[in-house]
Amino acid sequence: MLSVTFLGTSAARPTVERNVSAMALVREGETLLFECGEGTQRQMMRYGVSFALSEIFFTHFHADHFLGVIGLIRTLGLQVRTEPMRLYGPKGAKKLLTQALQLGVERVPFEVEIVEVKPGMALREQGAGKPGMALREQGAGSRERDGYEIHVFGTEHGGGSVGYALREHERPGRFDPDKARAAGVPEGHLWGKLQRGETVELADGRKVSAEGIVGPKRPGRLVVFTGDTRPCAGVVDAAQGADLLIHEATFGEEEKERAKETGHSTAREAAQVALAAKARRLVLSHVSARYSISAEELVKEAREVFKETVVAKDGMTIEVPFND
Ligand SMILES: [Zn+2]
Ligand SMILES: [Zn+2]
Repeated sequence: MLSVTFLGTSAARPTVERNVSAMALVREGETLLFECGEGTQRQMMRYGVSFALSEIFFTHFHADHFLGVIGLIRTLGLQVRTEPMRLYGPKGAKKLLTQALQLGVERVPFEVEIVEVKPGMALREQGAGKPGMALREQGAGSRERDGYEIHVFGTEHGGGSVGYALREHERPGRFDPDKARAAGVPEGHLWGKLQRGETVELADGRKVSAEGIVGPKRPGRLVVFTGDTRPCAGVVDAAQGADLLIHEATFGEEEKERAKETGHSTAREAAQVALAAKARRLVLSHVSARYSISAEELVKEAREVFKETVVAKDGMTIEVPFND
């Protein structure tokens, strides 16, 4: 299972209908948080997002994307959390987040590691090792992500802003039981070996390879989160064939000049990026306060370019199924 839940979808400031940026991604029971605008912890409670998370990813450090981490970390501390937390962000993350975490609390009672990321990095490991055990007690300190990686890519919003792509590993090809039987492989543990791509030896000494019985490897899913950005090649590259592209769309066409001046995108521009990347689906988020009640105008403008578009709203959950 893979899904995303939007906790905040408003640009720059909260409105009655929408909180500022945050999105929870849940995969196989694991929760990852992207951005943590002011009030995110309350949105998590409202929309049933687990507090048992160990990683938060920041795209840049404008106030509407990170102020909520101060209160969230404090609440986690009050819950007598012992598991370490890892925070990721572009250059400046260490200084800024360290300052933020010292506000209004004497001491955070669990370990918080801050990791500065750069475009091109692949985050293959994660901070939360065995529950209840601090990173430093775990020798190497971290463990492999289970079946996916987080890729960091550059965006155009100034200050070294980045976006994140969750890319699952390839899955084994489809196993064809009829072909296995036809090749004389009896049902049982040998089938499991074939499914893993191994060659098996039969009782009569004959060897049967997986080729022809197991289909080609199948791609995993790709979910791409841009954060704030102008439409740019970096996102098009990162989102090639994405199952889900979550792109900011702060403005509509009538404010396209303003989008350019402020380092944001229009809905139409986000759609052009989705089209160029051959993404499967596009979700628009981070909308200006004027679209807080109805963002239908943004959807309409985007759909003229890219049909599979929806606009996020707070509390919306989107499932990301396998394509095959
Ligand atoms: Zn913003
Ligand atoms: Zn920003």
